[in-house]
Amino acid sequence: MMNDITCGLCGEPWGFYYLCNEMSMGKREKLLHGKGCPICSWGESDRATGEYQVKRVRSISRNTDLDPTRYSL
Ligand SMILES: [Zn+2]
Repeated sequence: MMNDITCGLCGEPWGFYYLCNEMSMGKREKLLHGKGCPICSWGESDRATGEYQVKRVRSISRNTDLDPTRYSL
């Protein structure tokens, strides 16, 4: 999907618009930094394998105007 940010822990796609408008800044930063999302209970669930961090950084690079080096591994 266009403008989706991938959760680095579980791979769940999140719309960047949603992140910016419906999520608190603290949670948005956690998600952008690869610390999980509500779907994987911020890393607590079995889904949080952590294998999506490269995909997460790539999604930030492609789908936002944020500086991806701020969010790299
Ligand atoms: Zn997640």
